[in-house]
Amino acid sequence: MSVGPLSKKMFSRAQALIPGGVNSPVRAFKNVDGDPFFVRRAKGSRIEDVDGKHYLDYVGSWGPNILGHAPIPVTNAIHEAAKDGISYGIPNVGEVEMAQKIIDWVPSVEKVRMTNSGTEATMSCVRLARGFTGRDKIIKFEGHYHGHVDSLLVAAGSGALTFGEPDSAGIPQSFAAETLTLPYNDAEKLEEAFAKYGEQIAAIITESYPANAGLIFPKKGFLQLMRDLTEKHGALLIFDEVMTGFRLAKGGVQELEGFTADLVAMGKVIGGGLPVGAFGGRADIMEYLAPNGPVYQAGTLSGNPLAMVAGLTQLRELEEQNGYAQLTNLGTRFGDGLRKILSDKGIPHRLNQVGSMFCLYFLDEEIVNVSSVTKQDFSIFKKLFWACLEEGIYLAPSPYETGFISMAHTADDIDETLTVIQDVVAKW
Ligand SMILES: *Cc1c(COP(=O)(O)O)cnc(C)c1O
Repeated sequence: MSVGPLSKKMFSRAQALIPGGVNSPVRAFKNVDGDPFFVRRAKGSRIEDVDGKHYLDYVGSWGPNILGHAPIPVTNAIHEAAKDGISYGIPNVGEVEMAQKIIDWVPSVEKVRMTNSGTEATMSCVRLARGFTGRDKIIKFEGHYHGHVDSLLVAAGSGALTFGEPDSAGIPQSFAAETLTLPYNDAEKLEEAFAKYGEQIAAIITESYPANAGLIFPKKGFLQLMRDLTEKHGALLIFDEVMTGFRLAKGGVQELEGFTADLVAMGKVIGGGLPVGAFGGRADIMEYLAPNGPVYQAGTLSGNPLAMVAGLTQLRELEEQNGYAQLTNLGTRFGDGLRKILSDKGIPHRLNQVGSMFCLYFLDEEIVNVSSVTKQDFSIFKKLFWACLEEGIYLAPSPYETGFISMAHTADDIDETLTVIQDVVAKW
């Protein structure tokens, strides 16, 4: 199975001009041993490629498109706003309205600053945590992705509780040496790390629900342990809600878990499909930012008026359409249906699902961290991926990715998908 001739042709042209033919690696379909299709347009729950083939989409631009593709209220709002200017670099009212919305919705955020991507948001959180605490070391967890920030693209060190190794060429060993990478959901290791390095640790950064190694949930008590240890040792807790924020609830995982972090990184849904990130938290910490404080952070396009209006419109629509309840219904319909199909066929699996996010593992055991994820036989996932794509269902092209359902998906879309998957696995 492969994609159509026009996509193929465009991809070979792209490869001559762009490294790997893509502007972000996962789009290259390397994790499914193939080449990507090229999109021509997308509307609602569907994508059309340059060869005229249609797909029901479960990627949603990797998270932002919670209303589906090209929702009319958002495209209209962008259109109207653009007539008054595309970028000013001067304070605009949209920035204040966005700040108000975030502070109203997200627990623990008292002040907020906008960025242009999730990466900038996590990078700024780490710098701010270091500036505020006067400490250099950061704890992160294996398999958690926080964007392509130098000090966060770090793999676990080789020995027990050693500082990390760069996960990418081009990152100095000395940067990685400031990051301690621990297995997720391992209370003992976390306690050990604080016992040993407590006074040097500026912050823990964690994905709220880890969703870049499939979809993993914190074990009971693990979030609270992070909270307790950071408080005890004068470190900060940075919650990366770039994926989960505004996707699972108005207040993200903090709201779902009744939990508060010191700093929160946001992105994806908040931009309505335009390039946006944000970070916020306790006012006393946020006041450390320039121009009031000593921690420098900036952006030519930060708080861009089109991005603010797109994000605000998307959030308003979600609220007015009672979006989170509707998305949870769709997610549950999909999850229950998929589990039944795979169980009936006797295929070992785990389907982790919350609201409109899901990840299927071909492995029947509790998924606690990235080491459970890598135990899977990835060939089963690849087989499913290509068979679904052939039938017009676009799942994320990697077994490490979380799938997304949007408000544009209907119960019929979900049922159509389940029928396709049932037919696919019937032949196995
Ligand atoms: C996508 C993502 C990021 C990075 O956001 P970009 O906008 O791609 O820079 C950071 N953290 C998490 C949890 C993400 O899912």
